[in-house]
Amino acid sequence: MSVVTRFAPSPTGYLHVGGARTALYSWLYAKSQGGQFVLRIEDTDIERSTEEAKQAILDGMNWLGLDADVGPIYQTDRFDRYREIVEQLLKEGKAYKCFMPAAELDDIREQQKARGEKPRYPGTWRDRTDHPDGQPFVIRFKNPLEGKVSFDDHVRGAIDVANSEMDDLVIVRSDGTPTYNFCVVIDDWDMQVTHVVRGEDHINNTPRQINILKALNAPVPEYAHVSMILGDDGKKLSKRHGAVSVMQYRDDGYLPQAVLNYLVRLGWSHGDQEIFSKQEMIDLFSLDAIGQSASAFNTEKLIWLNQHYIKTLPTAEVAVHASWHFEQQGIDITQGPALEDVISVQADRVKTLAELASISRYFYQDYDEFDANAAKKHLRPVAREALEVVQQKLADIDTWSPETIQEAINATAESLDIGMGKVGMPLRVAVTGGGNSPSLDLTLNLIEKSKVVQRINKALDFIQTRENS
Ligand code: GLU
Repeated sequence: MSVVTRFAPSPTGYLHVGGARTALYSWLYAKSQGGQFVLRIEDTDIERSTEEAKQAILDGMNWLGLDADVGPIYQTDRFDRYREIVEQLLKEGKAYKCFMPAAELDDIREQQKARGEKPRYPGTWRDRTDHPDGQPFVIRFKNPLEGKVSFDDHVRGAIDVANSEMDDLVIVRSDGTPTYNFCVVIDDWDMQVTHVVRGEDHINNTPRQINILKALNAPVPEYAHVSMILGDDGKKLSKRHGAVSVMQYRDDGYLPQAVLNYLVRLGWSHGDQEIFSKQEMIDLFSLDAIGQSASAFNTEKLIWLNQHYIKTLPTAEVAVHASWHFEQQGIDITQGPALEDVISVQADRVKTLAELASISRYFYQDYDEFDANAAKKHLRPVAREALEVVQQKLADIDTWSPETIQEAINATAESLDIGMGKVGMPLRVAVTGGGNSPSLDLTLNLIEKSKVVQRINKALDFIQTRENS
């Protein structure tokens, strides 16, 4: 039987880190088995589901490159199917209408709690046929009274739950809408899901879902319930810890490759390997190697991975993601060198793509003002002569290249009998506006000769003004 996994988020917020990790594990398992990955949007809670949240999930999945083979499927398009199965269960006596008013059930639960018992519906309407006319009702599933549900979770091992622990689950609310546990079962069955990978917060739902599957003579999938993610401080990961939404990581300048690599290691391991390309993840992933303990988020490690990928991925691939950041920062990358070339000289110098854009502005735009410290230190009257000479030598270059640029700088230092730094630093501040840049031959090579010459004029003017003041 071919493997089918699914990711089934409820669209009530953004795609958060925990959800993205579940999606990744499901996706990886399907890919590793040559199977199919289904994206299902669980939007039956009409009050809480929003269009923005649906879009945010699709955007997040798309940014991470976790393409669905099937879907997105929306549960709200499937109400007829749920209704059909409810009818079938009612007809077969496997579900029943319960007319107990909510207030009465609340009372019963209070009494049970007072007696130290677990609150549960006592099965009052399970076998009654004296249905009142025109009264509101919910529909409940007839959970077996005896025996137990056993399943072997890929992460948690063997789990047994006695049927006596479970009451009769509401599968249709009094307003006629089907409930989560019911829709999931019908969907997993119809979509032929073989492996359910989801958060451990669903583990208590699993025996109930298995009972409904059995009542429908549907195959029971395998399960892997992954543990939760904690913040660096050991508390449940939340907004307090900074970015929790996957798209926030995009905004902060992380590459999806780094986020995926980070997420895959958050709860799964393969020896002590830290770096995994997407293909390696697919080749090596297994559900049984997912760890049981909660994983703690570690921003430092994510940054380290991001740097690694900025440095090592093909520049064209980095450029696809970096261009968005240049645009966000108002830098028009058509007005200068190819972004790939800028990435190849800057990759070693940044932690994020947002930083890459902000330190690369001078390749595409004239700076507005000099960095005050750099100018104070390097654009002094003593630097004027070096700047004038190097400007002339640069202007005289026929073939603008790192070699000819370097020769011009060397020749300037030689002819004035000064150290290279005495030419290089003023030149760097003149051309980039600040004191940090990759080596000058590479930097200047990516900027047009005429612009370089012009910017040196700006530096000379600055020195002049300073001298006069
Ligand atoms: N819609 C559920 C959630 O977002 C997940 C359901 C499932 O994976 O079975 O928590």
